[in-house]
Amino acid sequence: MHSNIVYKTADTVILGAGLSGLAAAFKLSTEGSRVICLERNRAAGGLARTFNHNGFHFDLGGHRFKTDNKAIENLIRQILNDDIQIVKRASKILLRGKYINYPLKPFNAIFSLGIATASKILFDYTVERLTVRKKKANLISLQDWVIHNFGKTLYDIYFKEYSEKVWGLNGSEIDMLWIKQRIQGLSLGAAIRNALLPKTNSTFHTLTSHFLYPTLGIGQIAKKFEEKIKDNNSNVTVKTQIKEVRHKNNQITGVLAETDNNLFLFKSNHFVSSIPLPTLVQILSPKPPQTVLDAATSLRYRDLIIVAIMIDRPKVTDQTWIYLPEHNIPFARIHEPTNWSPSMAPKGQTLLVAEYFCFAGDSTWNADDKHIIKNTVSSLQSLGFIKRHEVIDSCILRVPKAYPLFEIGYAAGTKIISNYLQQFTNLIPIGRSGLFRYYNMDDAIASGLEAASEILSHKPQMNFAAESSRIATGTR
Ligand SMILES: Cc1cc2nc3c(=O)[nH]c(=O)nc-3n(C[C@H](O)[C@H](O)[C@H](O)COP(=O)(O)OP(=O)(O)OC[C@H]3O[C@@H](n4cnc5c(N)ncnc54)[C@H](O)[C@@H]3O)c2cc1C
Repeated sequence: MHSNIVYKTADTVILGAGLSGLAAAFKLSTEGSRVICLERNRAAGGLARTFNHNGFHFDLGGHRFKTDNKAIENLIRQILNDDIQIVKRASKILLRGKYINYPLKPFNAIFSLGIATASKILFDYTVERLTVRKKKANLISLQDWVIHNFGKTLYDIYFKEYSEKVWGLNGSEIDMLWIKQRIQGLSLGAAIRNALLPKTNSTFHTLTSHFLYPTLGIGQIAKKFEEKIKDNNSNVTVKTQIKEVRHKNNQITGVLAETDNNLFLFKSNHFVSSIPLPTLVQILSPKPPQTVLDAATSLRYRDLIIVAIMIDRPKVTDQTWIYLPEHNIPFARIHEPTNWSPSMAPKGQTLLVAEYFCFAGDSTWNADDKHIIKNTVSSLQSLGFIKRHEVIDSCILRVPKAYPLFEIGYAAGTKIISNYLQQFTNLIPIGRSGLFRYYNMDDAIASGLEAASEILSHKPQMNFAAESSRIATGTR
């Protein structure tokens, strides 16, 4: 049972210590503000953490750092003391037993699957291009958009199965805005588009050939941020679950949080929230109107299971990522962290990390760990990557709310919520989950830094709408 509530104050309270929350805390504390950053996990870093399992290091799905924003790149280099290296990207799609280059090269993409398929792709694509001007397209879904632009055969080969596997939805259920907002590392569409329309897509971020990666994994960024925040006399408080966000007269008045069965009420003039947008709405006290609560319930996330298989061999692949669209393979992507940085495993050994996409509570999420690991090893063996006797260890982690799910209609839900939240003059939502956006790490960091600047410039409220339009127009 809880006894008393302990009161704590700070200049700014930050909800969530992922990269967006940490970036905000870093900037504010560097400028002399006293900040408390609250995090429910046992370590800071959110989705951009790196785990160390008996000397084998792995991210929650490989995280490459890539940005167009020189100031953010310089900041990351500076906080890591330049302990970050340039890695060449080499990725393949494994489809119908063939390796296809990713990013796709036109000839390779079209002809890899045999001449009959190639003819069908080209025929379909030509028909689409010839008819495209005649018909007034009503494009709503990812499926509409891809078929409209590239033809049905390409959609069927490169999108349909993969979308179903990764998002758990048909292409007809995924909002076209998703593809417009950001075509990410998981999208084969970026590759196709680049292959067929190279001039218009030469700057797609997904297709860049090199990226930055810290020697001991992406989690080093969060670790260093945390160290600097503490050096600046501010706090990152882990194992602290935010339970309630209290408000009165258009102001957030306090955040109730629990650590080790003790309740704390954090009071401040400024609040920055990077916890999932639906969670924030659900824990507001008093409760928002039912329409806002319904909008929050309508926003869903895709969850992830990460399975690391440790192998007694120096190297298995020469790839950064391998994408596996087919349904008969249980995971959708693998990567070998030692290809990103050799320090990710003990000398002479390596590991493969498989990503299972699922919904928390479904049969995959609830499956027994041993069963998932056994399945992973069997699949890796039948795909020819490893032999069972080479496996020396394994580790499995469940990652809730890994990807915001852009179902048709999601934009209406986020609009209702953002309209409602704008009444609070001292609350700034930031980050990937916090804004329900397909943010990369640099976007998340940028949103945290922007929130800090707003607070430091004594403009307490970030204009949620203005922020939305910045992203919607495709700025990273
Ligand atoms: C598999 C995968 C691969 C990715 N690969 C890349 C990549 O290659 N390159 C790239 O740039 N980006 C990549 N990303 C995206 C990147 O991880 C995110 O953009 C970034 O980490 C988001 O940071 P954030 O602070 O906005 O959110 P989060 O990391 O989600 O932080 C939110 C924090 O809030 C905490 N929290 C939530 N609820 C509560 C509560 N009630 N109380 C207290 N704390 C709470 C969470 O525990 C979390 O730590 C990838 C993401 C995934 C899932």
